[in-house]
Amino acid sequence: MGDHFQTIVDLDATPAEAEALADRALHWLVSEGIVLAQQTTCVLGAPAGHPPGEHWAKAVIDPDWEPTDGLAVETGRTVFHGGQGGAQYAICPKCAARTDFFTETWEPIDGADDAFFEAINTWHKTGKATVTCSHCASASDLRAWKWADDYYAFAYLGSEFWNWPEFTPRFLADFAQVLEGHRVVRVWGKL
Ligand SMILES: [Zn+2]
Repeated sequence: MGDHFQTIVDLDATPAEAEALADRALHWLVSEGIVLAQQTTCVLGAPAGHPPGEHWAKAVIDPDWEPTDGLAVETGRTVFHGGQGGAQYAICPKCAARTDFFTETWEPIDGADDAFFEAINTWHKTGKATVTCSHCASASDLRAWKWADDYYAFAYLGSEFWNWPEFTPRFLADFAQVLEGHRVVRVWGKL
């Protein structure tokens, strides 16, 4: 089975505001009864997290599957990604052309993601990186590229839920409102 996660990533939060927004999001989740305020050992890769609250079911599409683990909030420069596998392709923000990293049958394409991995490493170290599109030759901010299945997000605030059913679009929209209308993306996967 493995452990599933869904991370609601705030794409617009700056490093300076991430902590305050994390507090605001947590306060909202607790007041809605989605998670509990007190922390327990309910998340992977973190000492403690917030377990599901009594109204967790209103956040998810399939309430028959009860969440078994909790929420860990991450702040600071983070490469959020979908765990096992990889992104099948990325889309250039300038020309909208796809750069494929895998074939239709998921065979890796040699060297296709070299420039992207280099940019991801640079962004992780410095917070700034661009990738030059092989189709239109424009260099674009790494954070502006779109990824298949939202596989990657490069950001400063993420709310990581372990072993929860898929969130509803309504819940994600409400979450974005709490984050001052920032753009949010759901990065999900399995470890
Ligand atoms: Zn392009």
